[in-house]
Formats: sequence, C-alpha cells, structure tokens
Amino acid sequence: MSRTFSILKPDATRRNLTGKINAVIEEAGLRIVAQKRVKLSTAQAEAFYGVHKERPFFGELVGQMTAEPVVVQVLEADDAVPKYREVMGATNPEQADEGTIRKLFALSIGENSVHGSDSDENAAIEIAQFFTDAEIVG
Ligand code: GDP
Repeated sequence: MSRTFSILKPDATRRNLTGKINAVIEEAGLRIVAQKRVKLSTAQAEAFYGVHKERPFFGELVGQMTAEPVVVQVLEADDAVPKYREVMGATNPEQADEGTIRKLFALSIGENSVHGSDSDENAAIEIAQFFTDAEIVG
C-alpha cells in the first residue's frame, strides 16, 4: 500500500462536487484515509505551489486556490500516486480521457477540480503539510 495527497479545489467545492468526486475516487479503488475541509491562506498556497513561482499563471493559481475552501485528503492504494494521476486525467481537461475527474468536472486548465501528488517523495512532503500521522487512519 502507498499514499498520495489530494486536493478537491475551490471550483469543485463551490459547485458542491465533493461527494461526486469522492465517488469516482472510491470506485477506482483508492481509499480516503484522511480528509478535511480547509481554507488555504495565501502563504499556504504560495508554499504549496512554490515550484511554479516563476510561471506566468502563478498569481492566478494562488488566487483561485484561496478563493473558496478546499478539501485536502490522503488516499491509499497499491501505487496510489500513478493510480490517482490516472483517475484525475490530464491537467488540461480538454486533453483528459473519458471518465476521468477532470474530464467529468473541470472547468479549465486553471480550474481543474483536483490536485494529486506527482511522486511518492512529493506525496510525503504534501501530506505532512496538512496532516499529522494520528489524523491518517488507514
Ligand atoms: P497537475 O500536476 O496536473 O496539477 O499540473 P501542474 O503541476 O503542471 O500544474 C499545477 C496546477 O497549476 C494545475 O493543476 C493548474 O491548476 C495550474 N496550471 C497549470 N498550467 C496552467 C496554465 O497554463 N494556466 C493556468 N491558469 N493554470 C495552470
């Protein structure tokens, strides 16, 4: 078993899609072993997306991520990181495969409904930004 970190983004919580997205996650065989709804501060969003600091869309991304609450999650499965990336679909929803979360729900490349870690190493870093070990119940 391995873990990945997930965020249901503001465009999803704003449209009341938490349950629908969680259903896709669970039907794909990922277990939600920790979850909470939080409102990110600008400092938290800037730190989380620090790798994109120099990109032209950084300000817009931070603005979108702090506009409304998000749901942060830890997901568990065999090969959780690649599995969830597959369930999420491509970053740009126009390129996402049928049945993926982004194909089903995303509005645009910026408002693309979900985040998922891109490596086991980053998953561990991202999980630790939001959850203590005691809050993760597998
Ligand atoms: P991900 O791992 O599939 O989420 O994609 P990236 O790590 O490349 O980008 C992180 C997030 O930045 C994406 O999920 C988008 O929300 C946002 N993003 C990436 N590219 C663009 C872009 O060209 N325009 C805008 N507005 N946002 C973008």
